[in-house]
Amino acid sequence: MTQNKSTSGRSYLAIPGPSVLPDVVLQAMQRPSPNIYAGELIEMTQGLIPDLKRVARTEHHATIYIGNGHAAWEAALSNTVAPGETVLVPASGMFAFGWGDMAAGIGAQVQYLDFGKSSAWDLERIAEALHADTQHRIKAVLAVHVDTTSSVRNDIAALRKLLDDLDHPALILADCIASMGCDRFEMDAWGVDVAVTASQKGLMVPAGLGFVFFTDKADQARKRLPRVSRYWDWAPRADPEVFYEYFMGTAPTHHLYGLRAALNLIHAESMEQVWSRHARLARAIWAACERWSCSGDLRLNVGDASNRSHAVTSLQLASPDGTRLREWTEQHLGLTLGIGLGMAGNDDPAKDAYFRLGHMGHVNGQMILAMLGGIETGLQALNIDHGSGALEAAARVLAKP
Ligand SMILES: *Cc1c(COP(=O)(O)O)cnc(C)c1O
Repeated sequence: MTQNKSTSGRSYLAIPGPSVLPDVVLQAMQRPSPNIYAGELIEMTQGLIPDLKRVARTEHHATIYIGNGHAAWEAALSNTVAPGETVLVPASGMFAFGWGDMAAGIGAQVQYLDFGKSSAWDLERIAEALHADTQHRIKAVLAVHVDTTSSVRNDIAALRKLLDDLDHPALILADCIASMGCDRFEMDAWGVDVAVTASQKGLMVPAGLGFVFFTDKADQARKRLPRVSRYWDWAPRADPEVFYEYFMGTAPTHHLYGLRAALNLIHAESMEQVWSRHARLARAIWAACERWSCSGDLRLNVGDASNRSHAVTSLQLASPDGTRLREWTEQHLGLTLGIGLGMAGNDDPAKDAYFRLGHMGHVNGQMILAMLGGIETGLQALNIDHGSGALEAAARVLAKP
């Protein structure tokens, strides 16, 4: 039974970004190019800013860059860190090292604290590193909220408390690319100085927009830099005198229409509901995974549920069953699961043990049950040993009021 997923039924791209695009987002983008010098597009863009800030839970500044998450990473660093200055990177997965490497690329000294691939930050070790920094050489902590490779979620509010307790002036730069619009994130209440995200995950828009939110305190850091490259400079973007300055050139017209539709969806549902929907769907997934793991090799990468993302779940089977399962569900069911990323080297056969589930953005209970049913079917088809009762366990979670 091999189906051609392009012609029969809807396929489900259950990878942790890009996420499923809502029909209303696609429809909003299906239009001719607008005038970029006057009219509707300009008014619409101005209206996006307050609605983006509501997603980040900030009263401060919001900027939009044409670029992906890496662009937002670079933008945040370019406005806060000078060559030769130090950044501290507590790492719970590969994306933390990716951001750190970007900091190295702009000439920063990068100090890593590696907590492995299945554990959240150890705040005591972060405290030791900050305490030892008596000269305050560390100008920023690069804090990945949810590391999409491991599916570990870190406690950013606790990091703020730690910096305050130690009276350390380092800024918190938070990577919320996988978490914003999925896991609770409150920029102002948590004392985050700069938050970055991108369009293609919880925000449900195709890849191509990066967002940087920053406070006045972060802007003070920018003002003491010897130079800020023009394209990345957030000042004109956050407070443009002419529309052209929002994007340093031509606006990403169609992405903006898509973003308008996506923000309408998010705020019609409300941030609290968006977060609780993701939490509930994640609990259903974990309940199923815990049943599967009762027999055989399936393992949730993050043991402690309080450190698990609500948007992505990293899993492991015996190698090469992770890869076999992904290939089977894609080919036979039109269900595409995420590859394991950064958990084992490219030449390491163990890399075929890992896979990930994306459950971010435009997802609901029937999609999650279909995804879990697809995995169950693949495990059976491939004779991969697994515990029973996974779908019942997920249904029990979703059946609760
Ligand atoms: C997806 C992701 C990135 C990278 O974003 P790109 O758009 O692929 O550049 C960085 N950090 C996290 C946490 C992510 O989930």
